[in-house]
Amino acid sequence: MNCIFCKIIECKIPSSKIYEDDKMMAFYDIHPVAPKHALIIPKTHRASLNDLSDQDADIISHLMLKIHHIADLMGIKDSGYRVISNCGDDGGQEVEHLHFHIIGGEKLSAKIVS
Ligand code: 5GP
Ligand code: ZN
Repeated sequence: MNCIFCKIIECKIPSSKIYEDDKMMAFYDIHPVAPKHALIIPKTHRASLNDLSDQDADIISHLMLKIHHIADLMGIKDSGYRVISNCGDDGGQEVEHLHFHIIGGEKLSAKIVS
């Protein structure tokens, strides 16, 4: 499988790692849209939110529960941040390995879609 994020997990592509454990990894986005922009991904390959099933409940809840810890490591837990997962063509998904963007470090637009 030719998946960029699987290659990042396997350290075949370098990344600015923020956090890693047995289930997930967080690293800075290579093209940040705000002063602080990270991606969090499950280590198990899933293409998108559409690819999830009940069997993934543990890994996804783990990932969600770690967001505030990663935001803390990024230095934006208290100032606030936004979490986004793009899904499919209309959602603007480019990389087909499920990921959540954590964006902050400045006052973000009140609009989710500009
Ligand atoms: P999507 O549009 O699929 O929701 O977001 C994919 C994100 O992955 C984009 O923000 C893009 O900048 C980021 N990205 C793509 N390739 C790489 C890479 O090799 N390393 C890192 N750190 N980020 C990447
Ligand atoms: Zn993958």
